[in-house]
Amino acid sequence: MSDSRRRPILAVVGVLLLLAAGTFAVRRGATKAPRPSARPNVLLVTIDTLRADRLGCYGYARAATPTLDALAARGVRFATAIAHVPLTAPSHASMLTGRTPLGHGVRDNGGFVLPEEVRSIALDFQASGYRTGAFVSGFPLNRRFGLDRGFENYDDHLPRGSDPRRTAYVERTADRTTEAALRWLAVSEKDPAPRPWFAWVHYFDPHAPYEAPGAFGKHFASSPYDGEIAFVDEQLGRLLAAAEAKGAPGSTVVLVTADHGESLGEHGEDTHGIFVYDATLRVPWIMAGPGIEAGRVAATVARGIDVAPTLLDYAGLAPGQPMEGRSLRRAAAGETLDDAPAYAESLHAQLQYGWAPLHALRTDRFKLIDAPRAELYDLKSDGAEMADRAREEEGRVATLRAELQRIMATTTPVAAKAIDAETAERLGALGYLGGGVTGAAPVLTGKDPKDGIRLATRLGRNGMSVARTDPATAIRELTALLAEDPGMFVALRTRAVAHQTAGHHAAAIVDLRALEKRGALTAEDSVVLGDNLRLAGRTAEAVAVLERTAKRNPKFAQPWLSLAALRVKENRLEDAAAAYEKVLAVTPDHAEALRGLGDLALMMGEVEEAAKRYARVVETDPADAGALSKLGVTRMRVGRVEEGIALFTKAVEREPKNAEALLYLAGALASNGRPAEAVPYFERALSAGERSTMILNGLGLTRLSLGDQRGARAAFQESLAIDPRQPEVTKALADLRAGLR
Ligand SMILES: [Zn+2]
Repeated sequence: MSDSRRRPILAVVGVLLLLAAGTFAVRRGATKAPRPSARPNVLLVTIDTLRADRLGCYGYARAATPTLDALAARGVRFATAIAHVPLTAPSHASMLTGRTPLGHGVRDNGGFVLPEEVRSIALDFQASGYRTGAFVSGFPLNRRFGLDRGFENYDDHLPRGSDPRRTAYVERTADRTTEAALRWLAVSEKDPAPRPWFAWVHYFDPHAPYEAPGAFGKHFASSPYDGEIAFVDEQLGRLLAAAEAKGAPGSTVVLVTADHGESLGEHGEDTHGIFVYDATLRVPWIMAGPGIEAGRVAATVARGIDVAPTLLDYAGLAPGQPMEGRSLRRAAAGETLDDAPAYAESLHAQLQYGWAPLHALRTDRFKLIDAPRAELYDLKSDGAEMADRAREEEGRVATLRAELQRIMATTTPVAAKAIDAETAERLGALGYLGGGVTGAAPVLTGKDPKDGIRLATRLGRNGMSVARTDPATAIRELTALLAEDPGMFVALRTRAVAHQTAGHHAAAIVDLRALEKRGALTAEDSVVLGDNLRLAGRTAEAVAVLERTAKRNPKFAQPWLSLAALRVKENRLEDAAAAYEKVLAVTPDHAEALRGLGDLALMMGEVEEAAKRYARVVETDPADAGALSKLGVTRMRVGRVEEGIALFTKAVEREPKNAEALLYLAGALASNGRPAEAVPYFERALSAGERSTMILNGLGLTRLSLGDQRGARAAFQESLAIDPRQPEVTKALADLRAGLR
C-alpha cells in the first residue's frame, strides 16, 4: 500500500500487467490444446557433472530428485543424451552454439575463448527481442571465455569462499545462484513492456569435492555425490516454481541437462576430463513446457549440439548461423528420428599431460574410441563399456574410424586467431598450429590415457587442495610424479602453489618459469607467478608480469586485482584504485574490486564512500559475508553500533567459519558492554582461522574484564609465543602473574 502511494506509476503498470495476464489465461482456457501465441520463455538449466543414472526418473533407487522426476513426469525425458566432451567450457559451448568442439574451437577449460565468429543462441534470442540472462556457478564459465555474448545480464559472480583448501572464486552454490536468477526474474516481471526471456542457469554443486550443505550432507554421508544432486534438485524446485509463476502456467519451455557426467572410479578415473566413456558423456535431458506432452520417454539419442536448435525451435526462431545439431522437437513429440552419431573428444590429457588425444564416435549402438590402442564397445549389451571388442570386430572399427575421420576433416574448423595469445603459445609448443587441431598433431609422450590414468589420479589426489593445506606432502608426491612422467608438466603448476603455501617463493618462481619455457603458462599461472614475484620482493618483475597478463586477457580480473594488492602494499592508493576500476569497467558488480575500493576508501577515511561500495556488493550477493562485515565496520565507525553488530551477526550466520566476521562480532560485543557474549565468538575465530595475536589479545582482555584471570593468562601467553615483541601484553601478563600469586 505504501509502495503504491509513493510510486503511482509503478502501481498502474502493475495493474496493467495483471490485466494482461488475465486475458492471456482466459484465451488459453478457451482453447482445447493450447499453443502459445506469444513466444514462450525459455529456461536452460545445466547441472555440472551430473550423471543421468543418478536421477530417480532414470531409474536410480536411492535418488532424492523429486523436482527433476516431476519435470520428467510432466514432460519428456530422453533415455540417452550424450555430451561431446567431458569438460565444462567446451561442452557448454556446444550446447549454446550447436557445434562440436571441432566446430566452435573451445577444446579445454581455461585456455580457450569462444571465437567471435561462432554464434551463441543467446544472440538469436536477443535479436528476436528476448531478455537474456545467464547465471553461472563455476570458474570455467567466466565471461572472459566468451560464453557471455548475447546475454544482457551475464552473472558470473562467484564468492571468494573461505575454505583454505579451495582456490578463491571458483564456485557458487546452488542456493546463491538460484537467488541471483530469482532476482532477475523478479525484475523481468516489473518490465513495463514485458518481453519473453531466455535464461541459462548453471549449477556447479555435483562437481568434486562432494560436500552438500547442512542436512543434505548428513543424510547422504555415505554417498555425498548424491547429496549434492539432491541439494541442486531442491534449489531447482525453487527456480522452476518462480519461472512458472511468471505469466501463464506452462508458458516456459524448460530444458534440464548436464555438461558431462562423473566417472566415480569407473575405468580408474575418479572424476572427469580424461576419458570419453559414457560414465562422463551420458547426461540427463529432461524437457517440459508448452507444446510438450507429458510422460514421454524419447528413444532418439540426444546430443549436446541439439540443445541450441531444439530451444530455438520451441521459441519459433531460426538459428542465425548453421549448426551441426538438429531440433529434437519431433522426437519429443513421439517420432523416432534416424540415428545421428555423436562425435566426442577429450584433448585434456594431450594439452595438460602431453599424452595422446582421444576422439570418439558414438552411434546409438556402438562406440569407437580412437586412441593409440583403439576401443570398441557394444553399448546395447555392455553399457558400462567393460568388454572392448576392437580386436574381434576390426571391420566395424575401420568403418567407424573412417566416419570419424570424415567428420573431423569436414567440420569447419575455427581459425587460429580465435585462440588467445597464451593458448596459441601453448598449442604452438605442442606443434598444434602448424598442423591444425586435428588430433594428428605431435604430442610430447603420446601416452595412451588408459596407460596413464593411474598417474592422472595420483595428480588429482595431490591437487590444489593438498597443495594449499599440506604443501610438504604435495611437493613430495608431485616431484615423484614428475620423475615418473616428465611430460605431466601440469604437476609443476600445482607444485608451484604448494611452494607458495610453504612460503618458498623462489622455488615457486622456478616451477612457473619452467612452465613458461614449455609454452604452458596460462593466464592463471601468470597471476600466481606475479604474486610470488611480489612476495619474493621482486616488485618490478611482478608488475611487468601482471601488466602483460592483463593486457593479453582484457576480461580477466585477477591480474588487475593482484596489481591493486601490490599497489596497496606500496601505499600507492591512487594506482590501486585505478586497477580496481579497470576490473569494474569489465564487470561492474565485481565483488572483489568493489570490496577493494571500499577498503581504500576506509583507509582514506571516506566512510560513506566505503559503505556505498560494500552495499553494492551485498546488493549483488546478499550472502557475501566479507562485504556484510565490512559494511558493519562502516556502521561502527559512525557510531551506529547496533547496526554494526546486526551486520556482523548476519555475516557469521552466512559463513559460520569466517574468522574475520567472527572477530569483528566479538570485538564489537566486547567493546560495547557485552563481554560474556563476545568470548565464544573470539574462541570460534581462533578455531576458524589462523591463531593471531589480535584475536588472542582480544580474548585475553575480554576474559580479564569478566574476571577470568586464568583464561586471560592462557590467551596472553599464546599471543606472546607467536610474537614476543608486545610490551603491553608482556606487562599485562606480568600484572596478572603478580595478582595471581
Ligand atoms: Zn563441468
